[in-house]
Amino acid sequence: MNIFTILAIVFVYYCGVAISGVLARFGRDWEAGGFLLGIGVGILLVLSPRWYITNEWHAWSPLRPRCKNGKCDAKDYELFGRQGGNALFRCRCGTKYIRKGLRFMELKEDGSCSPYMRRRWRLGRWEKDTDAV
Ligand SMILES: [Zn+2]
Repeated sequence: MNIFTILAIVFVYYCGVAISGVLARFGRDWEAGGFLLGIGVGILLVLSPRWYITNEWHAWSPLRPRCKNGKCDAKDYELFGRQGGNALFRCRCGTKYIRKGLRFMELKEDGSCSPYMRRRWRLGRWEKDTDAV
């Protein structure tokens, strides 16, 4: 659970408290119903922009770069294993890749890696990786 999840839960709770407080003037039944209504409204307010932002962000900065043949997008990769905590992907062309932190490298048949793409930060855009392995 990260800080954003905790803030979202606190926000949803206070939406419940706020709407419950507004409806409390109509009686105790309204107060309890208002709390549930407020929680529902809070959940919608938390999830809708988050869903939208996540989709927009992934359009700008996909989870995986386009493959080196230029044919496969982020969704076209298949996770086929792990190697020392790093995820192994195969694109539809059959090329294998290994994701090591912010780097996305081609995994050769002999088990060695060659630099392909990298990010400067976790959600940044993909750019050509020119560093040595
Ligand atoms: Zn491909």
